[in-house]
Amino acid sequence: MNAQQVISQFAATGVQTCFHDRHINPQIYADLNGSNWSLKDYEARGGYAALRKILGQDGGAGLTQDEVIATVKESALRGRGGAGFPTGLKWSFMPRQFPGQKYLVCNSDEGEPGTCKDRDILMYNPHIVIEGMAIAAFAMGITVGYNYIHGEIFEVYERFEAALEEARAAGYLGPNIMGSNFSFQLHAFHGFGAYICGEETALLESLEGKKGQPRFKPPFPASFGLYGKPTTINNTETFAAVPWIIRNGGLAYLECGKPNNGGTKIFSVSGDVERPGNYEIPLGTPFAKLLELAGGVRGGKALKAVIPGGSSSPVLPANVIMDCTMDYDSIAKAGSMLGSGAVIVMDETRDMVTSLKRLSYFYMHESCGQCTPCREGTGWLWRVVERIDHGQGRLEDMKLLDNVAENIMGRTICALGDAAAMPVRGMIKHFRHEFEAKIAAANPSAATAQA
Ligand code: SF4
Repeated sequence: MNAQQVISQFAATGVQTCFHDRHINPQIYADLNGSNWSLKDYEARGGYAALRKILGQDGGAGLTQDEVIATVKESALRGRGGAGFPTGLKWSFMPRQFPGQKYLVCNSDEGEPGTCKDRDILMYNPHIVIEGMAIAAFAMGITVGYNYIHGEIFEVYERFEAALEEARAAGYLGPNIMGSNFSFQLHAFHGFGAYICGEETALLESLEGKKGQPRFKPPFPASFGLYGKPTTINNTETFAAVPWIIRNGGLAYLECGKPNNGGTKIFSVSGDVERPGNYEIPLGTPFAKLLELAGGVRGGKALKAVIPGGSSSPVLPANVIMDCTMDYDSIAKAGSMLGSGAVIVMDETRDMVTSLKRLSYFYMHESCGQCTPCREGTGWLWRVVERIDHGQGRLEDMKLLDNVAENIMGRTICALGDAAAMPVRGMIKHFRHEFEAKIAAANPSAATAQA
């Protein structure tokens, strides 16, 4: 089952998941509304000015590689793909003096259920990613890059290819860009639709033409990446933030958000809201404000819970999320993760056992099967939740679920194992009573005996 099918299954339960391809509240990423994606439009918005600036093609002295990296560090830009790792720090890991080929890779394999921001950036503002990648390539002394685009969004791939053609023709890509000594070749790569290829080493395997399975780490991609060469991988939205940072300065970006959480972020709001869509807000914005932008809970119902950062992040009940601000630190403190910024809103009518059953099925299906705890454990999680949901739960199932989740976490090659276990633990932590009620209904004699 792919991410879209999971979303469809949510839809089957009544959770609204249709996005209107709207990017609301544009600040840094510009208005992504369909027709203004071309190079001409991008340049009219100040596009490629940052690339000119670092190359000294704007009448200035240009920036050094160290100055570009220092600016990105100052901005407190953190990876927008899910892990939230500081981008400038990651760039500083690249061994710039490495004598052979080095690679830059954009991870556009957006597959986390609930997330649909990267596809909108690529569809409606592709040059912002091209410029961001060119700046990153300059900063790290890289001459070849790839954008790995999710396999189920072919129209996005075609749009990005069209933008690449424009950028090459205008001299923003290729040899000696704008008469400088800097050369950068960038290619689009159409992925194959597997969720696990969003994991960076699985993505590299897939990019090399192999089966998309995660690698053991270390070595990390910074030293052993694509074709065994030093490689830096960042998410689409991360690269898209870079031109603004270079144009306006790291401090200005930092001040858009809050300390340690610089800038704005696009949140994909789905589920039981009046206006699902992609919303750009400063990091540190109260969740209540984001919910208000999305029109509030659909039909005037009460908020029950929110999955704040994509399906792998633990669910937070209404009273907890309403006290949170939307940034990495606040959501982590509340016991979940900001992740990719996919905010799935659930109203008072949602059945948490059924919701977890659908999520668990997704992770079971998407496990690549390399490691036993993930391959076997994800299946067990789904089977146990499924029988509880179907009124066949056993009294010992709660302990079993917890035990299986505990034995997956931290014992696998990649983070998918944890991604499967965390939603289970989150649901049990906050909504144990719903699971126990279904189990009790399936075991009336035991309930009577206990009474
Ligand atoms: Fe594959 Fe799961 Fe192991 Fe990741 S954790 S390598 S998806 S089996």
